[in-house]
Amino acid sequence: MNYFSINKQAPIVDFKQATINGQAPDKGLYFPEYIPRHSEEWIATLKDKSNEDIAFDVIKPFVGGAIPQNVLQEIVEQTVNFDMPLVPVTDSISSLELFHGPTLAFKDVGARFMSRCLGYFLRDSKQQVTVLVATSGDTGGAVANGFYDVEGVQVVILYPSGKVSPVQEKQLTTLGKNIHALEVKGTFDDCQHIVKQAFLDQELTQKHFLTSANSINVARWLPQQFYYFFAHKQWKGEHPPVICVPSGNFGNICAGILAYHTGMPATHFIAACNVNDIVSTYLSTEKIVPKQAVATLSNAMDVGNPSNFVRIIELFGHQFPQLKGMLSSTTITDKETLDTIKQVYESHQYILDPHGAVGFLSLERHLQKNKNQKGYFLETAHPVKFPTAVEQMTGREVAIPQALSYLLKAEKKSVVVEASYDEVKEFLWQMG
Ligand SMILES: *Cc1c(COP(=O)(O)O)cnc(C)c1O
Repeated sequence: MNYFSINKQAPIVDFKQATINGQAPDKGLYFPEYIPRHSEEWIATLKDKSNEDIAFDVIKPFVGGAIPQNVLQEIVEQTVNFDMPLVPVTDSISSLELFHGPTLAFKDVGARFMSRCLGYFLRDSKQQVTVLVATSGDTGGAVANGFYDVEGVQVVILYPSGKVSPVQEKQLTTLGKNIHALEVKGTFDDCQHIVKQAFLDQELTQKHFLTSANSINVARWLPQQFYYFFAHKQWKGEHPPVICVPSGNFGNICAGILAYHTGMPATHFIAACNVNDIVSTYLSTEKIVPKQAVATLSNAMDVGNPSNFVRIIELFGHQFPQLKGMLSSTTITDKETLDTIKQVYESHQYILDPHGAVGFLSLERHLQKNKNQKGYFLETAHPVKFPTAVEQMTGREVAIPQALSYLLKAEKKSVVVEASYDEVKEFLWQMG
């Protein structure tokens, strides 16, 4: 499989080069040259297949010859080695729980797959790669965990001091070895700005090979298809589901829509958003107008210019009517998010995190208007990552999963820097 840049001003590359580059040299996102199609028989027999086998069949055409089968099999097994159950919440709504991985968010799937692919590609090269990433919360932990101890890779994570939750901070700062946490005295936007400056700094990029691990990387985007197939395997509805995805940068829902185009049955997709409503506006005006992101309780979805949306447009061949027929979008406020956490706990004894609450309410509203349909939403993070909102609304302390209890005792190690590019550059420069 080859990949072209959506901006069409860069050379075509294979899976290996697309993974190493992250973004194409013309700043475009990489996109597969063709969309593979699963046979109806393969779809009909999902129930008889293991998750490992499904994941392998899903990713194989996208990787092409870039990784030998036995290695790819091993990578896939390590990527999906935790539960992703589809749990009924009401008669018509189920929750696809994607928070049972090591850092308790769905980003574990993409980060684990990408880190192992990159580790394989660099295995006998002298090339050292520095993964540079800014995080507002979950990305940093998943990337740190995925790349921990991967040979040939140094990871530098910039996070805004005092602005990530205590659990999230521990996930970034306690691993050590090849994982370096830079605690920036500024905002997430400052962190992101500094990372962008580093990629543009030729003096630095000649000394270090820099790559990014955010969701535009194909090796993070593509494996996110896996759990839509795992959900289908568990789906008991008479008709295909309505699939509702809490969305920020739109990588996750874009992977679901890709799975649909390869043959996975779905009735409709909903992009569940908080008040950052760029896509809702697009669906009614056909215009993408980026905005400054507004801070909300579902902070992993506070994105003012969703990078992956261009891939969704590409998947529908730039045909707006088709896109609009298959995808709708919602805008949920913080108050509605909190009310939903409370109501769902009281009526169904199910504890939602704020991102899942945005998903649940969006799906519930859709099903009220489409009474013969049923569906599921993606529960993208464990409620324990957002204890304040969840405990306030449910009146119940959220039990800490075992994986976390040792983490909370581990010692934080970060390098505190001003929100200035020069200080960060100095750190990167002396890394050797
Ligand atoms: C990253 C994240 C999202 C948003 O996913 P996108 O792929 O950026 O749309 C939603 N929920 C949680 C908990 C996340 O960490």
